[in-house]
Amino acid sequence: MTPEEILKKRWGYGAFKPLQREAIEAAFAGRDCLVVLPTGGGKSLCYQLPAAAGRGLVLVVSPLIALMDDQVAAAREAGLAADALHSNLKAAPKREVYKNLSEGRTELLYVSPERLLAGDIYGYLGDRLVLAAVDEAHCVSQWGHEFRPEYRRLTEALDLFPKAARMALTATATPAVREDILGRLGLRSPDILIGHPDRPNLVYRAFPRRDQVKQILEVVRRHPGEGGIVYAQTRKDVERIAAKLKEESVSCAPYHAGLNAEERRKAQDDFVNERLDVIVATIAFGMGIDRSNVRYVVHANTPRSVEHYQQESGRAGRDGEPAECALLFSASDLATHKWLAKKDLHLSAERQRALDKQLKDIGRYAVSPVCRHALLAAHFGEPYPAGGGTTGEEGCGACDVCLGETKGLDEAEARLTAKKILSAAWRLEGRYGTGYVVSVLLGRAGERAAACGHDQLKVFGILKEAGEPAVRSWIDQLIVQDYLEITEEAEYPLLRITAAGRALCQDKGEVRLGLPVKPARDKKKSKALRAVGAGFSEADAALFDRLRVVRRALADKAGVPPYVICQDATLVEMAALKPATPEALLDIKGMGEKRVKKFGAHFLAALSGRQDLPE
Ligand code: ADP
Ligand code: ZN
Repeated sequence: MTPEEILKKRWGYGAFKPLQREAIEAAFAGRDCLVVLPTGGGKSLCYQLPAAAGRGLVLVVSPLIALMDDQVAAAREAGLAADALHSNLKAAPKREVYKNLSEGRTELLYVSPERLLAGDIYGYLGDRLVLAAVDEAHCVSQWGHEFRPEYRRLTEALDLFPKAARMALTATATPAVREDILGRLGLRSPDILIGHPDRPNLVYRAFPRRDQVKQILEVVRRHPGEGGIVYAQTRKDVERIAAKLKEESVSCAPYHAGLNAEERRKAQDDFVNERLDVIVATIAFGMGIDRSNVRYVVHANTPRSVEHYQQESGRAGRDGEPAECALLFSASDLATHKWLAKKDLHLSAERQRALDKQLKDIGRYAVSPVCRHALLAAHFGEPYPAGGGTTGEEGCGACDVCLGETKGLDEAEARLTAKKILSAAWRLEGRYGTGYVVSVLLGRAGERAAACGHDQLKVFGILKEAGEPAVRSWIDQLIVQDYLEITEEAEYPLLRITAAGRALCQDKGEVRLGLPVKPARDKKKSKALRAVGAGFSEADAALFDRLRVVRRALADKAGVPPYVICQDATLVEMAALKPATPEALLDIKGMGEKRVKKFGAHFLAALSGRQDLPE
């Protein structure tokens, strides 16, 4: 069978995603390769398909033990003889894994690095091992954000099987991390397969934070009954936001390090199994969340870096369907990150500079009135759209800027506004906090201003018309662009003009300012939404909901998360095309022969209007 035929028969997909075929070909030819694809890019298929080809055993090293069992379950649904070996495994299933191995039945074996390095499975791999895949390969690099010392020792094990091809996979790939992976995993003249980092199905929004809970609720309300993650900075924030959302009847639970293991496990379980819509979590948690139909990720606070943002927001829409990523920005978050970093570790001057740059970069991402897809691509050194060219007048059609929800001030207006704010800061000589500077600009500084004579300043009340949220946001934008700074020498943070800011007042330098605008009622659908939602009626949507119920029941019965039964995209296509026979069902993207056999009857019943739930 050709790879295409295996893809269709086992997974029910009609075509490869970018670079999947190249990776699979390398594996078949026994060549090493490095695969860099964004989340949702379809990395697992790159090693699962070779396992399905019947040429031998494929080993997958992964640090995410929490996800292994679900991945095994999903691989089995595609008809693969898959197993996992990790420290959480009970005795009986463990015996089963060894039995399968010793009888040469296993096609796909997931292991944690520790289990592999323990060495007791080497004997079983022998000549059968054709491919060793290392997932989350960035863990081998100190430059990455999830360094794992055990990953450094993986070559000890890999070198025992010189004939097996090696495949390193990751979603994170700055050049330094890439180099590290190649060297540390001992890849031999590898094919380098680097995909474009853009996630076209994600709609990015970044807004100044005003009323945190209200803004979170706006996103939540856009997605009734759908899965979402809200990230907040501290445990306290998590608890507060979760409580507020509950008051508003949102089905949600908090998740942070202060909860006990059982509470955390339950929250995660309920979320993955779709008994819970929203999880509110701290970012300190690398939540082993593999729910593929997360429809939105809200950052209630600013993340630490663009890399973190890419990773955390990337948990939305892994199934390729439209999803939303919203970031609520405040410059004060950046100050908090800095303060926390300083408190926690003794930062070298070099680390300090790296951290400052990371914070500047994420700040710039959040406040620049520039296409977010383009900004993210640029951060990772790639053109946008992929391959160069332009997006045309409506831009990406999938970010607040291109959707017209955030507008840049024109150049002259931005400069004038910036100069008003900067001269206020200048006149106040860096001796006041942001709040007071805002009050002066709005002309409402009261007795204190009168006592200091600040109500006599030319800048007093000069931005009265603009209103407080706008002025506060502009100040944040000027901080991110280095025209203002927050100083920490005094007891509390003070706002001060920088040298660049003084230069800007004399018309040297450029400045950009933007503001959210009231969204128009009748919003054009984004490009991504239009592509997927085309021809989807209200009735189809109701049918989709019924199919979801069937899937939930099937999942409960099998004891696996719903996405293991099949993806949302598969149900969407079913609802739109309404297949009436098992053959027609086989043509639905993501079904494949085994799934049709196992679940077909239940889906067909629901499609024909009967509700035939499994016992
Ligand atoms: P990653 O590990 O890169 O984040 P996954 O391996 O989880 O991505 O795949 C993301 C989604 O894409 C899954 O729902 C998977 O079933 C789907 N997928 C993988 N390959 C294809 C393909 N060739 N066509 C359509 N969907 C695919
Ligand atoms: Zn855009």
